[in-house]
Amino acid sequence: MKLLLISPRSSDKRSPVGFKVPQVALQIIAALTPENVKVSMVDEHSSDIDFSKDYDLVGISIMTATAKRGYHLARTFKGKGSKVVFGGIHASVMPEEAINYGDAVVIGEAESSWPDLVEDFKQNTLKRYYQSKEPDLSTAPLPKRDSIIDRSVLGIKWPGFYTTKGCPYDCEFCSVSSVYGKKIRTLPIPFVIKDIENANSKVFLSLDDNVAANPKYAKSLFKEMAHLNIEWGGQCVVTIAKDDELLQLCRKSGCRGLFIGLESVSTTSMRKMRKTLKSIKENEDVIKKIQDTGIIFHPSFVFGFDDDTKA
Ligand code: SF4
Repeated sequence: MKLLLISPRSSDKRSPVGFKVPQVALQIIAALTPENVKVSMVDEHSSDIDFSKDYDLVGISIMTATAKRGYHLARTFKGKGSKVVFGGIHASVMPEEAINYGDAVVIGEAESSWPDLVEDFKQNTLKRYYQSKEPDLSTAPLPKRDSIIDRSVLGIKWPGFYTTKGCPYDCEFCSVSSVYGKKIRTLPIPFVIKDIENANSKVFLSLDDNVAANPKYAKSLFKEMAHLNIEWGGQCVVTIAKDDELLQLCRKSGCRGLFIGLESVSTTSMRKMRKTLKSIKENEDVIKKIQDTGIIFHPSFVFGFDDDTKA
């Protein structure tokens, strides 16, 4: 059996340079696939699909930005006789849309359903939907790092790693806590260290939505990461700056930049979005504190809220 796993690009053309966020979903799915299946992976942001090859099953992981391209690829592969399975966050929240273009949809995290799906495919009993439960990360498989599909930033290899899933916050516009849950699930720290070592790079992006969401776990993790001599960037929330020890350990672990959603300079909008900090002054203090450690502070903002004004 031949399986192709694809992370589609977001437009018809691949941009030659620029910031490309790595992903680890395909490597996790590959690790969940039985050994007797021949697995190929293509991240379209870094390489092209060889359409001259035939596959029995094609798995396409889609976000909203890549769904259109994913559906186009599905039509192409179904036309060649492959069965197509969709997964990823867009397919998880829009399964009735995705099924129109494929043969099956994995809803939620695939860890608990992918082995069953592969077996069903072999038995010719593929179901339309596979609803996954939130997996216990203590038994997660190590991502299969032997196939190099990591995206690069201006030529520097930049693999992704993950340490947790879920977010305890409930920002109004965000899908993370509704898809991955509000409970923070953590990978065993030796697992994370091994995965980073397996990726064989000195520069990484943490794919956690909130890398310091569990401060006790994050402190232990950062202490171990400090021995790896790597540099990394990631995302978290402003509360990291309220814990001096956590912030210092984060920097010592190799953190060079944090992407943090401030979302608005309007206190009314911040409150409506249920953001953690709700005043501009608080945000200013946090920015200064993070920058003073030597970590680059990368804020993000959302424009167009109902209460936004031209001023
Ligand atoms: S803190 Fe970040 S990940 Fe968590 S709900 Fe808010 S925007 Fe989403």
